[in-house]
Order: sequence, then C-alpha cells, then structure tokens
Amino acid sequence: MSIGATDVRAWIGDFAGVVAENRMELVRLDTAIGDGDHGTNMDRGMKAVVEKLEATEGDDIGALLKGVGMSLVSKVGGAAGPLYGTLFLQMGTATAGKTELSLDDWTAALESGIAGVKARGKAELEDKTMIDALVPALEALKAKAADGADLGDALRASADAAEKGRDATTPLEARKGRASYLGPRSVGHQDPGATSSAMLLRAAASRWG
Ligand code: ADP
Ligand code: MG
Repeated sequence: MSIGATDVRAWIGDFAGVVAENRMELVRLDTAIGDGDHGTNMDRGMKAVVEKLEATEGDDIGALLKGVGMSLVSKVGGAAGPLYGTLFLQMGTATAGKTELSLDDWTAALESGIAGVKARGKAELEDKTMIDALVPALEALKAKAADGADLGDALRASADAAEKGRDATTPLEARKGRASYLGPRSVGHQDPGATSSAMLLRAAASRWG
C-alpha cells in the first residue's frame, strides 16, 4: 500500500475537520499556558488550506504539501503558523514530484519537516512543544520501517507515539514559546501544539492505516 495525492488531500481535509471539532479544546489548553488562540489560529489556517487545496489541481504530492505550508505561513500568526507552515513546506520539498509515497518516503518527509521545525523554533525534546509529539512519532515510524512493517501498522504506531508524547508534556516545564514565560507555572498542563500535532498524525493513521 502507498499514499497517493488523493489520500494526501483527504488527510489534510480530515485534519482540518478534527481541528474544527476540537477548536475549543485547543483554545482551553492554550488559555491555561498561553494566550488562548491556538484553536482559532489552527482552525482559521486549516480552513484557508482546504479552500486553496480545492482550487489546486494536480497529483504532485510535494506541490500540494508546499501549498498547504504556504497557506499556513500566510494565514496564521503566532508561533504555530510559521512552525506548521515550515513542517508542511519541508515535507513538500522532500516529496517534490512524487505522486505516490511509500512508508520510507513518508518517514523521510516527516523527518525533513521536523528538521525544519527544529531549525526555525530551536525546540528540542522535552521543551513542552509540538516537537514532543512529532519526534516520538518519527522514531516509531523508523522503528516500524526497520522491522519491515506495513504502512498501516507503522502509521498507527506513530500516532500512538505522538499521543504518548503529547500526554508526557503535562508534567514538563515549558522552555520554548509563550508558555515558557510562565516558568514552573506551566507544569501540570498539556501543551496545545503537541495536542494538535498528535491530531495530525492520528488523522494520517485513521485515513491510511
Ligand atoms: P502563540 O504561542 O504565538 O500564541 P499558538 O498558540 O498558535 O501560538 O501555538 C502555541 C504552540 O506552539 C505551543 O503549544 C507549542 O507547541 C508550539 N511552539 C511554540 N514555540 C515553539 C518553538 N520554538 N518550537 C516548537 N514549537 C513551538
Ligand atoms: Mg497562543
């Protein structure tokens, strides 16, 4: 099994739907340790992304993902817009010209995307950011790929790892982004960006798994 352009479009649409459904939950999480805009930021951005995707033809997955990244960068302010924008732009660069993605292609794309987020935001594991969901997801994909697992199995393992990483942000003290201004008062709250990133990977597993 591989991932085609239609599958990528469906995944992005699913993620937009999940973000819309969970907008208030993301707002609630960001109100506790930030400025409360993560849910509305992501919802506005993903609505713009879906509109643009619907108006975009073609089955070059790299071009589709770059378009997603560009919409997010231009429509979403704050930290998450540029960071999610970079994630998708780099995933698009890694998949340029491809109309089908294997498990290895998907893993390489996510790796490039995460490298972009790290380069831009300078966050490392356990800084209490989206990196805490994304990196474990990538590690799970790599482990599954090395075991010769099929795509569905690997995607489910990566979504499970992302959710575990998301949950593990709760006891951490934030070291990056707005939440870091709270210092020790950020402890005891789940990170909103790790929460939306876990949704992104769960959407992939649910759609393609
Ligand atoms: P803002 O913090 O500007 O209000 P959002 O509320 O939309 O932006 O996004 C907040 C999320 O962005 C955080 O929960 C965190 O996961 C993520 N984030 C913030 N700074 C960084 C960073 N430097 N690197 C990675 N992720 C970050
Ligand atoms: Mg915010």
